[in-house]
Amino acid sequence: MRLSKYFVPTLKEVPSEATVISHILMLRSGMVRMVSAGIYSFLPLGYRVIKKISGIIREEMDAIGGQEFHLPALNPKELWEETGRVEAFGDTMFHVKNREYVLAPTHEEIMTFHARNVVKSYKDMPQIWYQIQTKFRNEARPRSGVIRGRQFLMKDAYSFDCNREGLDLSYKKHDSAYRKIFDRCGLKYFVVGASSGAMGGTGSEEFMVKSEAGEDTVAYCENCGYAANVEIAVSKVIERGREDAGREVHKIHTPAVRSIDELCEFLKIKETSCAKSRVYIHNDNVPVLVLMLGNDDVNETKLLKVTGGSIRPGHPDELKEITGAEAGSIGPIGFSGKIIADLRLRDANNLYSGANETDYHFGGIDLLRDVKEIEYHDLRSVKPGEACPSCENKLDVFTAIELGHIFKLGTKYSESMGARYLDEKGEDHPIVMGSYGIGVERIFACYLEQHHDDAGIIWDKVLSPFDVHLIALNMKKEAIVENADSIYKDLSDDGFSVIYDDRADAQAGFKFNDADLLGIPVQVIVGEKKLKDGKVELKIRKTGERFDIKIDELKSKVKELVL
Ligand code: ATP
Ligand code: MG
Repeated sequence: MRLSKYFVPTLKEVPSEATVISHILMLRSGMVRMVSAGIYSFLPLGYRVIKKISGIIREEMDAIGGQEFHLPALNPKELWEETGRVEAFGDTMFHVKNREYVLAPTHEEIMTFHARNVVKSYKDMPQIWYQIQTKFRNEARPRSGVIRGRQFLMKDAYSFDCNREGLDLSYKKHDSAYRKIFDRCGLKYFVVGASSGAMGGTGSEEFMVKSEAGEDTVAYCENCGYAANVEIAVSKVIERGREDAGREVHKIHTPAVRSIDELCEFLKIKETSCAKSRVYIHNDNVPVLVLMLGNDDVNETKLLKVTGGSIRPGHPDELKEITGAEAGSIGPIGFSGKIIADLRLRDANNLYSGANETDYHFGGIDLLRDVKEIEYHDLRSVKPGEACPSCENKLDVFTAIELGHIFKLGTKYSESMGARYLDEKGEDHPIVMGSYGIGVERIFACYLEQHHDDAGIIWDKVLSPFDVHLIALNMKKEAIVENADSIYKDLSDDGFSVIYDDRADAQAGFKFNDADLLGIPVQVIVGEKKLKDGKVELKIRKTGERFDIKIDELKSKVKELVL
């Protein structure tokens, strides 16, 4: 491809709309342009990468027996009404005006529609059906470029089995295909499993990549691979325990002390001598006091799991009404209502906490002795550096992006849409389903997040849009043009994909910068000086290594490097 004719609008400056590195690189390298919030066009260079990623996904899906479909993005709303998902998706789903259609945010309904029409007997299963298709989601905050688009490409697959055992097998096949896909794409990823409880017992795993652009915060153990969303992650809990010399409850005047930090400062005590109190309102009318050790924060997802129903923090005026005190002076003694405490506080004594009277605290609180009914649960969020629950190595806590998701759906869709089959005895059952998704653009973006340097992208040959970046240093010199043209022809004829910088008006420095920015693995530089010895220069983008090579040896060297 001659760069003089190829549409690759590279940018020197970082566009102001982009903050995430993958987004910056996609824009700067002329691979992507934004059309409107969350809506992107892939330009020719970027689309080559999309096709490469899709190719890898196809190969691995076909290898597990997947059959490729192409389903419509425009869906009759009535199919979505059968599963109740018009309501479930709410504003995230795009509706087509004046028509009973929606734009599909995923394709369980359409695949189940086909299954109910054709999969009638146990003999028709197992099936793995997949597609690589455009999805539409009216994401509330599209950001980070193509990582969260309102229109994006998803490889979505669905399995249809007679029973749980069949589903387990289909699920395992996808798990292994996903690992192969991400490995082949050169991504460093980790897996957040269902054992962490996210999907309420049904099998589900998310394939994640560490990234500043991520919107999920996860706790991860490099040593044993333990990974869980911080909403549910646990660490080895160190209980505060009991101190030998128990003290009596005593009231202390603590004027203007509102926070644990201020209390520690005022009384010259440690955080671990304090019980922080938070009042929550359960089901909109029942006050619940939540006690945490020191400055531990309440993890509201964990709290909700304990209480069920709905739970929200109390408003300041509610707190006053319930406890008689302002937020900074609330505590367990004298609190009338349910008390739940974090495990780290189990049976602790000699604690300081609010006295339910503004500007007063109690010291010497013994939860075993002074608080009649108290339930202990894990209610805190894991912090970086705490011990891994499985191997006690230090946990890392960071933000991550979900690349893919595999999920045992069971019979949710087949029940609601009536996709049933007859078993060997002629008995009728709902089909057992799984669903499996991968974000194609997210693979692209995550690759860039992981493979770049200050100068630009660093492609490995697998995803690189081209094999070779050929640079003619000066198009005004006949010898350069002649040789570069013939190298271009030779390499192309041999099956290499070559991007050829033949721009007449671009300076050498400009061409070098663009070549590093685009990041094609091998650069071949044709310049006057080296040509005199029948040589060109070869640069490996990843390592920066350069060497001179005889033109007649170039092909075999390139072969060695990119095949
Ligand atoms: P997230 O929590 O990031 O919104 P999700 O749980 O909604 O993702 P799924 O419904 O499981 O995602 O979709 C399968 C895959 O599609 C995801 O793993 C992700 O790679 C991709 N994906 C989902 N939403 C988007 C989006 N708005 N833009 C780009 N890719 C997306
Ligand atoms: Mg989502």
